[in-house]
Amino acid sequence: MAPAGLVRSPAVERTGDGETPAALLAGLDASQRDAVVHTARPLAILAGAGSGKTRVLTRRIAWHAATRQLDLDRVLAVTFTRKAAGELVRRLERLPAGGRVTAGTFHALALAQLRRRWQERGRRAPALLEHKARVLVPMMGDRSTAVPRAVAVAGEIEWAKARLIDPEHYVAAVRAAGRRPPLAAGDVAALFAAYEQQKQRRRLVDFDDLIALCVRALEHDADFAAGQRFRFRHFFVDEFQDVTPAQLRLVRAWLGDRDDLCVVGDPDQAIYRFAGAEPGYLQRFAEHFRGATVVELDHNYRSTPQVVAVARAALGRRTGAPVRTVQDEGPAPIFTEHRTDRDEARSVAEAVRDAHATGRPWRSMAVLYRTNAQSALFEEALARAGVPVRVRGGSRFLDRPEVAAVLELLRANARSCPGRRFVDHLVDLDVDTHAMPDQQREHAAAIVSLGREYAVHDGAGGSVDGFVPWLRATLQSGDLGVDSDDAVDLLTFHRAKGLEYETVFVCGVERGLVPIAHAINTADLDDERRLLYVALSRAGRGLHVSWARERTLGAQVVRREPSPWLEPILTAAREQHGGDGAKLPRDAAANVLAEVRSLLAVRARTDEASGGAEVPPAGPTRRDRTVLDDPLLEALREWRRAVARAAAVPAFAIASDHTLQSIALARPASLDDLAAVPGIGPARLARHGPSILSIVATATG
Ligand code: ATP
Ligand code: MG
Repeated sequence: MAPAGLVRSPAVERTGDGETPAALLAGLDASQRDAVVHTARPLAILAGAGSGKTRVLTRRIAWHAATRQLDLDRVLAVTFTRKAAGELVRRLERLPAGGRVTAGTFHALALAQLRRRWQERGRRAPALLEHKARVLVPMMGDRSTAVPRAVAVAGEIEWAKARLIDPEHYVAAVRAAGRRPPLAAGDVAALFAAYEQQKQRRRLVDFDDLIALCVRALEHDADFAAGQRFRFRHFFVDEFQDVTPAQLRLVRAWLGDRDDLCVVGDPDQAIYRFAGAEPGYLQRFAEHFRGATVVELDHNYRSTPQVVAVARAALGRRTGAPVRTVQDEGPAPIFTEHRTDRDEARSVAEAVRDAHATGRPWRSMAVLYRTNAQSALFEEALARAGVPVRVRGGSRFLDRPEVAAVLELLRANARSCPGRRFVDHLVDLDVDTHAMPDQQREHAAAIVSLGREYAVHDGAGGSVDGFVPWLRATLQSGDLGVDSDDAVDLLTFHRAKGLEYETVFVCGVERGLVPIAHAINTADLDDERRLLYVALSRAGRGLHVSWARERTLGAQVVRREPSPWLEPILTAAREQHGGDGAKLPRDAAANVLAEVRSLLAVRARTDEASGGAEVPPAGPTRRDRTVLDDPLLEALREWRRAVARAAAVPAFAIASDHTLQSIALARPASLDDLAAVPGIGPARLARHGPSILSIVATATG
């Protein structure tokens, strides 16, 4: 019901800030405009990344409100994140007085409705269990691995609940879905059942229960359903490709027998199948909602043709209509192979800082990686470089339960063997990692690797007690004195969905991460491809893709191979630049492509020779050895130490190891040569160029 006193004139009215309905259609192309004004219900709007789906959804609400076909007070808009909900509400706030949409995630909306119901019935709201592990851990037996196993079981419970599967049907459902649970399915089912009982006994509800409880209330409580259906009449869902069966049931329960539903989504961005999402709802929308209309958008507004070509190549399709881009040509995406994962992180930190020095705001840049555990290296490198960061979604590395569990294990070991050296505790920890599930193992490995670094820094070998404060200082110094609104985003590929940045660094593009090691069947591999597409398509103009030849996993340095999907991506990048003979990128792409090919060939040969065994970690390549023994490199390091001391900044702030190695390899004779060395931005070139050139000249005679 419109608030009392709200009068709307039937004529074309002003909608606030001078926005008439006509103004609300301005700045849209023909197919977007069609999607905004379409009267069909239900309606699905399908289109690729960056084509304006979210923009159309907002405009559609605004336009239908301005033309009096919809009452803003009766709108329920489901967004994928709280941030997106906030943005939607802010944009619509500029519309006529009195109208306020309700927007939020499925969970937040369900909770709000349930709260009201509990309140109205004078019932105490159950407590919300934010981490399933809290209930699961005490059930897990062996304490040293309880947290990781609890986290793994929690993932299974979430999948089951997303698909409306109860403990009794879990085993059959897992089998039917061809899913490989981290523990025996029977064990998971038993823990699932015990978890549900515990929860009930302690009057707790988890996030998934919110959806189920809201559905149950709407389906079984006619008064409640009538109240909600009176209150909400127009439904909108963004990112519909990732809706789960439980969420769809909630949408249906909200709708009742009505059809005022508009969804937007992109089947190529379906990335939550592992968590129970059902992309088929969008792909076959007209089957799931009888009489529905499907419209498509056909231009990409976000990204340069270069970015679009590279992102689409990740999907691995050579067919289909080319995407029409609106942005002007931009710089070629940059592909960089690093010697180690640390070099990669340092080089990203450096590039980010150089870009900021040329006037780019921190918030226009993001660093994307496949797994949460990878954030540690970037948090560290960016903090050292004085770059303000924000770790999106998940918590910062040190605040994660997996990390807390590993540190606790380390402390317990130190208590039981007080005489043992810190590095030996790291070795023990590294051995223990073999028994841990993936997510936990990755975090433990990151801690072992940071621990080794700490031991070196400490001088005296370090101690467990000294390690934790060092970790905190090292990982969080980037927080100090920072304007939190202007920070570089660090986030996983998954978390990046729906977001956009001027410049994006897509990191760790290596086999084992892209695709993730546990993806082996075709369906999982397809998910991983789409995930890479999501990551690459976040970029507006600047796209940096990188990987490392070696990655430190725990105490081991592991030889890495580039992602098998780099090849089609590099081919697309090269084709984009075909013919125009443009600067460096074309050659660079060709070089990297050749390198990737030769690496893959080596891998194939080694596999044949060793009957498919893993390639053993290789020592430094010849190129690296040459650099390592080079007196020029030593001279450059000496120079860096002196400059850093004089300026009272860490050595890395002057130049990274990687940059020094690149200079030693390139042996630049002029400022132009030096400018072409990776890691030498304009600021560095101006400040240090002449001294570097003189060192090179002296050392090389
Ligand atoms: P994703 O699938 O990644 O969520 P999307 O389809 O939702 O992408 P939007 O985020 O709505 O795309 O739009 C991408 C970018 O293009 C935004 O910055 C948006 O403001 C801009 N944009 C969309 N349509 C137009 C247009 N007609 N004119 C100018 N800019 C546009
Ligand atoms: Mg969107």
